[in-house]
Amino acid sequence: MEQNEKYSITELGPKESISRVMLKDTLSLTGAEISANRMSAGKSSLFAHAHKRNEEIYLFTEGKGLFWLDGEILHVKEGSVVRVSPTTIRCIKADDNTALSYFCIQVDEGSLVQYTRDDGIRSDIKPDW
Ligand code: ZN
Repeated sequence: MEQNEKYSITELGPKESISRVMLKDTLSLTGAEISANRMSAGKSSLFAHAHKRNEEIYLFTEGKGLFWLDGEILHVKEGSVVRVSPTTIRCIKADDNTALSYFCIQVDEGSLVQYTRDDGIRSDIKPDW
């Protein structure tokens, strides 16, 4: 992990080596918690859970599985992106034959006040590459 006032960076390594990595403290994040997760084939979350105020965005990057949301089951796979409201009870299970990798971004629901064009500032300088 490398950190200075301009950025922080860490290396997750090969996806096969990831079980669950929490990045808030590692990267000194101030507006979100992000976890990198890889669930072995046939495994599921140890428990279902909800949140008090944070919504979660799940970005599935490998495999396929089931995403249980208040009793409704979604079939998710590489490329699926799901936003879950704080109070929705959720649980994930990897397919019996395929590992399931995903990132989960946890943010305070309703906290986003500006983004992209409202927040970005175009710079007059750029690298020559
Ligand atoms: Zn959660």
